[in-house]
Amino acid sequence: MVDGGVCASMAYGAGVAQVRLEHITKTFGEDDEKVTAVDDVSLDIADHEFMILLGPSGCGKSTLLRMVAGLEDPSEGNVTIGDRVVNDVEPKLRDIAMVFQSYALYPHKTVAANIEFPLKVRGVGKAERAEAALKAADVLGLTDYMRRKPGQLSGGQRQRVALARAIVRDPAVFLMDEPLSNLDAKLRGDTRAELVDLHRRLDSTFIYVTHDQVEAMTMGSRVAVLNAGRLEQVGTPQEVYDHPASAFVAQFIGTPPMNLLAPGAMGSSDVQVGIRPEHLLLTTGGPLHGTVRQVEHLGHEVLLLTEAESGGRLTARVAPSLDLPEVGATVSFDVAPQHLHRFDATTGVRVS
Ligand code: ADP
Ligand code: MG
Repeated sequence: MVDGGVCASMAYGAGVAQVRLEHITKTFGEDDEKVTAVDDVSLDIADHEFMILLGPSGCGKSTLLRMVAGLEDPSEGNVTIGDRVVNDVEPKLRDIAMVFQSYALYPHKTVAANIEFPLKVRGVGKAERAEAALKAADVLGLTDYMRRKPGQLSGGQRQRVALARAIVRDPAVFLMDEPLSNLDAKLRGDTRAELVDLHRRLDSTFIYVTHDQVEAMTMGSRVAVLNAGRLEQVGTPQEVYDHPASAFVAQFIGTPPMNLLAPGAMGSSDVQVGIRPEHLLLTTGGPLHGTVRQVEHLGHEVLLLTEAESGGRLTARVAPSLDLPEVGATVSFDVAPQHLHRFDATTGVRVS
């Protein structure tokens, strides 16, 4: 079923590929040991969308993706691909290709042979296979490496071979589970851009799992944020950044994360106020006070890490050109009212 990190697909030629998840729940184990990995998730992914499933480790991302692939069965709910409920459809008949973090290429086969392998399994003729492999290799900049073995490639090149091997299937839906997490920072950045470009050039729908909010923000047409098996919010990267639906989303998206004041620090004790670091303005006589604990120079900006008078931390992003306070100094901040986010202090849900 799973050959070297890529899951089989059969149908050739991408069809209409919206993916619909309806009230999907997945539990593992029984009784005392029961774990709810995915909890009543409903999500519509449009044809040709680049949907990101984002959340911390253990929140159920891989389980959800595996249910789309057919590698896990939902305990409840329906998975629809195109206009067909696929709950009972075998993975290889779902017209999907899956790329994992560990891309396990065949070490003794050349790059070309690795890429065309899924077509060989499918019984495609030699010339047609070679042509398809070359086309996929071209898309991913691998044409110069076709005769090498995986051991003679860098990590990034190997990951691209795994992607090329998925591309030759021409699936309606690409499923990717943290495919870049084995790469170093520079290569991750480059490959991110390549994947966005790849998505633009293919007709397929992409569903991409990551715990990295930078990947989510830079690649996704929409982001679905998961927390403890539940869907917290779905929206464009800008929407989830500007209007986080919960304190969890507010803190998960953005680096450094949104400051959350102690409940009651501004206004009612039922409400927790959140402020993004870039919206804290260093001014004398501002309403928020803190003691500077650290000054981090990042070149293009400076982060002021302060201990808030009201409790907790207040981190501000300021311009490096400012006359910066020293560690230990007391500072005050102002914030424009439109930049205040309010969350229910008990449930964490955004209050308008
Ligand atoms: P993520 O990919 O977001 O890190 P997973 O989907 O892998 O999270 O896991 C979600 C939860 O389900 C975790 O608590 C995990 O331990 C549990 N889980 C996943 N697969 C299994 C399994 N086969 N058996 C039991 N528990 C599992
Ligand atoms: Mg996972």
